[in-house]
Amino acid sequence: MIVAEWKPIPELLASLKGHKNVLLVGCATCVAECAAGGEREVLTLAPVLKMGLKDQGQEVNIITRTLERQCEPEFVEELAEIAPQVDAIMSLACGIGMQLVAERFIDLPLYPGVNTTSLAIREQPGLWTARCAACGDCMLGETFGLCPVARCAKSLMNGPCGGTRKDGKCEVDENTECIWRLIVERAEAKGRLEDLVKVRPSKNWSNSGHGGPKRMLREDLR
Ligand code: SF4
Ligand code: SF4
Repeated sequence: MIVAEWKPIPELLASLKGHKNVLLVGCATCVAECAAGGEREVLTLAPVLKMGLKDQGQEVNIITRTLERQCEPEFVEELAEIAPQVDAIMSLACGIGMQLVAERFIDLPLYPGVNTTSLAIREQPGLWTARCAACGDCMLGETFGLCPVARCAKSLMNGPCGGTRKDGKCEVDENTECIWRLIVERAEAKGRLEDLVKVRPSKNWSNSGHGGPKRMLREDLR
């Protein structure tokens, strides 16, 4: 899922300074799963913002909505009726959903209520860890289903780096497993250690986004 987390409340209050009618809009999909932008979070944040602004001498009317998916135009269209009644929108969706809302309601200022952080799984209650960096050239088949792009601090193609701690954690973060150690262990368990001996060449980074915005075109779906 796409994972996000609330921006600090003072930052949210500062962005709404001067606005009188605000649409606070959530998304019932990924950001709901990671407890950042679903209906529950929208209904929790609205009174917090209202009270925070009141403390600063500003009265604000906050209208709340939660869309099934903020990244799909047909769901965003559900805001068309309410948009003329507000002078700003704050979105709790991921950066994708936010931009779709911003494009559709171009005359209204759009403020992010969350920071989009990663493509991650919920590893345990309250802990999400990244699994994919959407690099555009998946190599999971070579690394026994473990992604070094998203999960190695140096995104090494050939690891481990030599800095792995004695307890198997990453040298960059003592709370994170060295993913290359896990890759080696998995290869060993499968009797395929020799697969890791060959040096992987430079990855094709041309699809990673560093060369400009990514675009996917499927002629069969057009
Ligand atoms: S190799 Fe690339 S596409 Fe595959 S999981 Fe890792 S970041 Fe995602
Ligand atoms: S210790 Fe492991 S995970 Fe950390 S940077 Fe080195 S190879 Fe990558």
